[in-house]
Amino acid sequence: MLDMKWVRENQEEVQTAANRKRIDVSVAKLAERDDERRLLLASAEGLRASRNKLSQRVASYVNQGTSADVEPIKQQVKQINEALAETELRLHEVEKQWTELMMLLPNIVSADTPLGDSDEDNVELRRFGDPATPGFVLRDHIALGEMHGMIDISRGVKTAGTRNYYLKGAGVLLHRAVQQLAIDLLLAKGFTLLEVPLMARPEAMRNTGFFPLGEDQCYLLADENKWLVGTSEVPLVSYYSGEIVQVTDPIRLAAASVCFRSEVGSTGKDVGGLYRVHQFAKVEQVIICEADPAESERILNEITDNAEEMLRLLELPYRVMAVCAGDMSQKTYKQYDIETWMPSRNAYGETHSSSNLLDFQARRSNIRYRDASGRLRYCHTLNNTAVASPRILIPLLENHQAEDGSIYIPDALRKYMNGAERLYPEN
Ligand code: AMP
Repeated sequence: MLDMKWVRENQEEVQTAANRKRIDVSVAKLAERDDERRLLLASAEGLRASRNKLSQRVASYVNQGTSADVEPIKQQVKQINEALAETELRLHEVEKQWTELMMLLPNIVSADTPLGDSDEDNVELRRFGDPATPGFVLRDHIALGEMHGMIDISRGVKTAGTRNYYLKGAGVLLHRAVQQLAIDLLLAKGFTLLEVPLMARPEAMRNTGFFPLGEDQCYLLADENKWLVGTSEVPLVSYYSGEIVQVTDPIRLAAASVCFRSEVGSTGKDVGGLYRVHQFAKVEQVIICEADPAESERILNEITDNAEEMLRLLELPYRVMAVCAGDMSQKTYKQYDIETWMPSRNAYGETHSSSNLLDFQARRSNIRYRDASGRLRYCHTLNNTAVASPRILIPLLENHQAEDGSIYIPDALRKYMNGAERLYPEN
């Protein structure tokens, strides 16, 4: 959410951000509703003050036992009460419309965000490593998964429908190993690890900026009015909702959680394989810091570095992309995506997404701190993937395969894989 006073003074910038993010909202209409809301608030206040004055006069006549006729004053109070009821009703309606429009407003985008409509307009910033060019035909992760008895898509579909899968044996070990490596990396960097609720109230989804625009992306628990989270960013940020926090040192939170996504809108896209599934595991980084743009920019680089370090430990080639405005979500101010080389796609595929939200999320979630002068201010919040699996198994298996189908295990993963340096196919 943005500050309404700021929105009034920067209507054009907010409307431009909405247009770039293709969010259908009129800032002018919101400003109109805001004018009306202010007038109604002032009018209700005036009516209440007049009513109180008249009521006090009646009370003092009665107390003094004067013979003054209080009936006309009582009539006036009655008329004021009727006018007040009408004003409050209208105010309620206008506030509802005002809130609906406010919840659609996007965060503005940073000045260095590339212009563009889709991921095709994202701009490559840097690369690490080169995709290997082996002298044999590479197998994709599904074929490798079958050879190793690690991935079973057809039984996943049998049990749970499309975009579901089973991992088995070494597949599960790898899935858990990458998460544990990410957790250990973040713990060494001072993150606090949390086990989080995987279901959230609608307020938590709204406060973290996922609703009202992303309801179709999530699963609602029937009869519960609770939603399965698509990322632990929701419970991690909500942990401090409504609180005044201490951010002299930024708060660094991490969680390893299952994520659920309906993937509505992705029909026909990335079907088959492990790229786009309904349920996956993600180790997430969330940082809450002071509302200082230079500080949150520094932290955006820090959490991006953490993800890059993870990929270097996994010995995978990747590139970092500056995400364009049209590919950003409503809540994002600045975003980098990291894409890892996936031989079966003959392309880099997104594996990490690093975002600075400024105070957009903290304002909705009401997370504040006291600055040096003692003033209460909304924090800045940031988040990035540390690792998401099984998507990361795609580059891991495909880049580290040998001609005989065996798979090289990077040094950093071995201690979580019973010391194995290489996995060999079952048959
Ligand atoms: P996001 O939370 O949308 O920024 O996504 C973070 C990361 O989670 C992505 O970069 C992917 O690695 C992974 N991810 C997101 N959606 C899916 C999905 N439907 N299936 C598998 N992995 C996903």
